[in-house]
Amino acid sequence: MAVSVEGLASAVKGRVVEAGAPDYDDSRALYNAMIDKRPAAIAYCVDESDVAAALRYGIEHGLTIAVRGGGHNGGGLGSVDGGLVIDLSQMKAIEVDAGARVARVGGGALLKDVLEATHQHGLTVPVGIIGTTGVGGLTLGGGMGHLTRALGLTIDNLLAATVVLADGTVVQTDSEREPELFWALRGGGGNFGVVTSFSFRCHPVTTVLAGPVLYDLEDTAELLTWYRDFLPAAPDELGGFFAFMTVPPAPPFPEELHMRKMCGVAWTQAGEEESDALREARSFGKPVLDGIAPMPLPVWNTAFDALYPPGDQWYWRGEFIREIPDEAIAVHAEYGAALPTWKSTMHLYAIDGAASRVANDATAWSYRDAIWGGVFAGVDPDPANAGALREWCVSYSDAIKPYAMGGGYVNFHMDEPDRVRGMYGANYDRLARIKAQYDPDNVLRINQNIAPSA
Ligand SMILES: Cc1cc2nc3c(=O)[nH]c(=O)nc-3n(C[C@H](O)[C@H](O)[C@H](O)COP(=O)(O)OP(=O)(O)OC[C@H]3O[C@@H](n4cnc5c(N)ncnc54)[C@H](O)[C@@H]3O)c2cc1C
Repeated sequence: MAVSVEGLASAVKGRVVEAGAPDYDDSRALYNAMIDKRPAAIAYCVDESDVAAALRYGIEHGLTIAVRGGGHNGGGLGSVDGGLVIDLSQMKAIEVDAGARVARVGGGALLKDVLEATHQHGLTVPVGIIGTTGVGGLTLGGGMGHLTRALGLTIDNLLAATVVLADGTVVQTDSEREPELFWALRGGGGNFGVVTSFSFRCHPVTTVLAGPVLYDLEDTAELLTWYRDFLPAAPDELGGFFAFMTVPPAPPFPEELHMRKMCGVAWTQAGEEESDALREARSFGKPVLDGIAPMPLPVWNTAFDALYPPGDQWYWRGEFIREIPDEAIAVHAEYGAALPTWKSTMHLYAIDGAASRVANDATAWSYRDAIWGGVFAGVDPDPANAGALREWCVSYSDAIKPYAMGGGYVNFHMDEPDRVRGMYGANYDRLARIKAQYDPDNVLRINQNIAPSA
C-alpha cells in the first residue's frame, strides 16, 4: 500500500517528488544501479529550515528518513524504501574566502563543485578521486584521495559545520562549539545530524604532476613489492595509489593497450617541478605506459568521471592495511588477474603521511595507523553481471582479510550491519554516547548506523 505523504509538499519550500510522479524514477535513482529503492517521497530541500521541516514531517508521520548528498553510497544509504528522502542537491552553494583560505560548502555539493570553486582562487581542499561524489557522505566518512599523504583526510581539513539535528534544531559546531558533535562528524558518518554547510581549510595547490604509470600484469609481484616499501618511506608530498585496471577503450590511452588488464600506480604530486621521489618512482621497472603530465588539479581529480558515470552496477568492500606481506602480494596477483569485468578495479589508497600524524582519538576516524585504504570494486553496466561482481569482490576481500587490520571504512561498504562496529573501531562507544545525546531516537538511521547508548 502506498504511504501517504499528504501535506509534505506544503511543509517544505523545495520540490517534492512523490511515488508515481512522472519524474519519480529519475528522482529516486542512485549512482549504484544495483540498489533499487522506492521511497514514498523525495524532498529537494533548499535551506536549513526546509531540512528541519522535512525532518519534523517525517517524524510526525512515522516515516523512515534517509539523507541524500551526492547519492554515491555503495549500499544506497542515501535512500530508503517507503520512507522520506531528504535530498540536499539544491544546497550546493560555495563561498571561498581566499584571504582566510576557507571554503564554505553547501551540504549537497559535489567534489567537482568544490574543486572548481577553490581552483579559481588558486586553492584546493583534499577530497576523493571522482568529481561526482558528494561532499556530504565523503567528508562525514573521512575522505581519502590523491592528496591525503600531503594534506590529510578531508576531515582533517574540516574547520566547522552547520548541522540540523534530528529534532530540527540548527547548531554551529567546531572545536569550541559542540566539540563532541564536531569530533563525531569527522568519521562518524551521517549519524549525528544533517550537515547543511561544511567549512574547509584550503591549500594553495593548483597544478599537479599526475597520472598513471602502468605495467604488465605479470609484473604485479615485483611492482607491489617495490611499492609497499617505497611509498611509506617517500616524502608526504608524493601520493600514489596502486591499482589493477583494464585499460579503457578510449583516448588518451593508446589503442594497442585498449582492454588490456594491467597493474600500475596513479601518482600525484603538487606543483609542476618533478620531485626526486616522483622521478625515482617513474624509473622503477619496465612501465608499458607513463601517463604523468602537469595538469590543473580539477582535471586530474575528475579524470575518471567519464569512465564511471551513474547507473553502473557496483559491489564493493574495503579493508584497512598496515603491511603487505609477500603472501598478500600473491593473493593480489591472483585476483588482479581475475578482474570480472573491464570496469572492475582494486585500489590501495595511501593514507599515511599527514593523515597518520593525527591521533586515533582526535577525530572519530579510528584508523590513523593504517598505511592503505584498500577498495575492491566490481563494476559493470550490465545487471546480468551483478552476481559475478559480488563474488569476485567478496572472495578477494575475504582472501585479503588475514593481512588487513579488521574493521572497515564507512564509505567503502554495501549495507553491512554486521561490520558497523568495526568501522568505528575503538571510537565506537564514545560515538554511541554522542549519538544518544544528539539523536536519542535514532531518527537518522539510514547510514552505517550507530545505536544510541548512554
Ligand atoms: C565512483 C566512486 C568513487 C569514490 N571515490 C572515493 C574516494 O576517492 N575517497 C573516498 O574516501 N571515498 C570515495 N568514494 C566513497 C564515497 O565517499 C561514499 O560512497 C560516500 O558515501 C558518498 O557520499 P555521497 O554524499 O555521494 O553519498 P550519499 O549516498 O548521498 O550519502 C552517503 C551517506 O552519507 C550521508 N550523508 C550524505 N550527505 C550528508 C549530509 N550533508 N549530512 C548528513 N549526512 C549525509 C547519507 O545519509 C548516507 O548515509 C567513492 C564512491 C564512488 C561511488
